[in-house]
Amino acid sequence: MKVLRSVAEVRAFRVDAASAGVGLVPTMGALHAGHASLVERAVRENDVAVVSIFVNPTQFAPHEDFAAYPRDESADLTMSEHLGAAMVFAPSVEEMYPAGDATRVQPGPVAARLEGAARPGHFAGVATVVTKLFAIVRPDVAYFGQKDFQQLRVVQTMSRDLRLGVRVSGCPTVRDPDGLAMSSRNRYLSADDHEAALALSRALLAAKADWSRGERDPAKLRDRVRRDTAVPGVALEYVSVADPLTLDELERPAERAVITLAARIGNARLIDNVLLGIALEEIA
Ligand code: AMP
Repeated sequence: MKVLRSVAEVRAFRVDAASAGVGLVPTMGALHAGHASLVERAVRENDVAVVSIFVNPTQFAPHEDFAAYPRDESADLTMSEHLGAAMVFAPSVEEMYPAGDATRVQPGPVAARLEGAARPGHFAGVATVVTKLFAIVRPDVAYFGQKDFQQLRVVQTMSRDLRLGVRVSGCPTVRDPDGLAMSSRNRYLSADDHEAALALSRALLAAKADWSRGERDPAKLRDRVRRDTAVPGVALEYVSVADPLTLDELERPAERAVITLAARIGNARLIDNVLLGIALEEIA
C-alpha cells in the first residue's frame, strides 16, 4: 500500500491507474469499524481503493474540537492496508490549503438546516475539501456513511450540481453491539455517558417501530424521539423528521422520511438517524 502526502504524487499515481476503476473513502482518520465497512466496500467494488485521511480545519468552527480531534495515523495505515486499500492519501493542511487559499464551495439549501444551522460554515468546509479530494484523486465512486446523513446528501447534491462525475454511494451506519452509532468522537464518552448515549439509538428504533405500525404523523414521531431521549445525561439539540432527499422538515404525513437528531452527552456532540419508507440505496 502506498502512502502519499502530496497532490503531485497522487496525480502521478492516478496516471498509472488511468484505466482502473477507483473508489475513494474520505475520512478524518481515527478509523473504526464504521470506516472499515466503507473501505471494504471500496475494495470490493473497484480495481483500486483509496482512503484519504485528513482532519479538515475548514469544517470546524473556532470553538470546536479541531485541535483535540483524535489522531492515530499509524493505526489508520495498518487498518487501511489490512483492508486492502491500494493507497492512502494523507496530506498536510498546507498541501490541501496552499498559501493564499481563499476559494470555498457553498452548498445549497440541503445544507441549510440541522447540522448546517447548528454548525455554521461546517458544510462549506466539507463541500470544499471533498471537491478538492475529488479533483485530486478523480475517483469513479466515493463512499460516505449514512451516520452523517445530511453530509451524504450535501455531497451527493454537490457532485451532481457541479458535474463532478463522481457517484456518491451511501453505506449503512455501523453500530456497537449495544446500538450506539460508531464515531471517532465516542472516545470522548465516559462509561456513564456511553450508557446515556444508548437512548439515542433506542429512541430512533422506537420511532421506526411506530412507523412500522403505521404512524406517519411527523409531530408524533418527533414527540416519540423527544420523550425517549429525555433521560439524565442527554441534552437533545434537535430532532427532525424530514424528507430524505431535500431534508425539508415534514409538516404532513409522508410515505418516506428521515429522522435525524443531535445531542450533547458529556463532552461529546453526537448525531444519529434512521430512514423510514426508503432504502439507503435509493438515496442518490
Ligand atoms: P469521519 O472520519 O468522521 O469524517 O467519517 C468518514 C466517513 O465515515 C464518513 O462518510 C462517515 O459518514 C463515515 N462513518 C463514520 N462513522 C460511521 C459509522 N458508524 N458507520 C458508517 N459510516 C460511518
